[in-house]
Amino acid sequence: MIPKMFYRFFWIVLLVFSLPVQTQTQNPRLNGGWVSDEIGYLRDSGALSEINEMISELEKDTSVEIAIVTKLTIGEMNPKEYANTLFNEWGIGKKGKDNGILILHVFDQRRIEIETGYGLEGVVPDILCKRILEKFIVPNFKSNQFSMGMTLGSFAIINSIKNPNASMEQKLSIDEFQFNFADLPASHYQDKIKTITEENFFDQNGIFARHITSPTNSIKEFFYFWLGILVMSISVFLGVILALLRFGNKTLYNFYNYFGRTLAWLSGIVATGYMLVSEIAESDTSYSLLNLLPIGIGLFFVNGWIQKKLRNNPRKCPTCKSKMIKLNEKQDNKHLSKGEGIEEKIKSVDYDIWECNNCSKITKEKYTGDSPASTCPKCHFNTFQNIRVTVIRSATYESDGEELHEYECANCKHAESKYVTIPKKVKSSSSGSSSSGGGGSSWSSGGSSGSWGGGSSGGGGSGSSY
Ligand SMILES: [Zn+2]
Ligand SMILES: [Zn+2]
Repeated sequence: MIPKMFYRFFWIVLLVFSLPVQTQTQNPRLNGGWVSDEIGYLRDSGALSEINEMISELEKDTSVEIAIVTKLTIGEMNPKEYANTLFNEWGIGKKGKDNGILILHVFDQRRIEIETGYGLEGVVPDILCKRILEKFIVPNFKSNQFSMGMTLGSFAIINSIKNPNASMEQKLSIDEFQFNFADLPASHYQDKIKTITEENFFDQNGIFARHITSPTNSIKEFFYFWLGILVMSISVFLGVILALLRFGNKTLYNFYNYFGRTLAWLSGIVATGYMLVSEIAESDTSYSLLNLLPIGIGLFFVNGWIQKKLRNNPRKCPTCKSKMIKLNEKQDNKHLSKGEGIEEKIKSVDYDIWECNNCSKITKEKYTGDSPASTCPKCHFNTFQNIRVTVIRSATYESDGEELHEYECANCKHAESKYVTIPKKVKSSSSGSSSSGGGGSSWSSGGSSGSWGGGSSGGGGSGSSY
């Protein structure tokens, strides 16, 4: 059956559209931390809390923000580009100072990137990044000592920032023996890659897929999301059924046009809107926007198809019950009165004329046209149009304005005019608030947990394979 096929198609379109969202990385500032450890070795070895503490202390003293991100995989993406994108997306470093650093480890590509903001390129120049990679990170990573490599690398960077005037050699001489972290065998994390690519497919595809695969059972989710999806589906399904009936009529058309279609849009907007809002609250991303698109496009086309079918499906003759045929625009003109002809000409009304195959009975259906007009008070056709608006006096901040609106009937030429008062202008209260450049909004107040400072990357830094 067609409705079933349509549904399958609908879900496939939905999934395809939600595919390109694999860049999603959990923002650690949402939990007050600095480290997003997808691979998990920092957590497993205990280095995570150590690093978080070091960065918190650094941020308190110098306002510098450091993000540590470990990823099992970023697919086919280039690690340098990924680091740069993530840096600017989160806004690491304080706004205006651009004093942020991002260290990104991509496990399956065996790659490590250090990305620096403009404000730190003097203190942590690219050459220093390169030396830190060579001296502390790469050797440890080569022997699968990821936690040690990451901790020493972070500490060396922190040491450099705390001693901005030290020489390169001084910046590179740190006490390595104050740390002692041991990682699980590399195979442990290798296995996790398989898991994330196979099982967690849906987790990476926006909240919509998550709602489908692992519902949270909250009342809100049920009410807004599942009920919304259900009502939308039922409305569309009902419309499809009506459209597939052998005979149509104006009542079915009106029923769907005013009731089913509206309900489908409303419930669809509620469900997808809830999805979007809850996603932003949960993970600081809005990938489900991509889910809104196929739902919107799908609804648009299906509604269009249903309405077309309901309007054009054969009618049943009221006298002999035979099939009626819709006349084309030229044929139907002779069945319209002069007023109706004018309504159709100015496109305020669209008439469908149906003729019975058997007994030649004629029926007429009236639909709203593309450019609606008012009903003429004299001849009562929908032919009363606003033909001219003249400004008598413009509205100012001090006084009301006035306009002359002139109407004329396209059918009987009956004319009327009226004066319309235009309320005086109201001074915009938003003026001035747009220049919030210096003032911190609640999202960019430095230091507090919840977000990054709003800095941007200078594109500097260094990367290395191991
Ligand atoms: Zn008939
Ligand atoms: Zn008239």
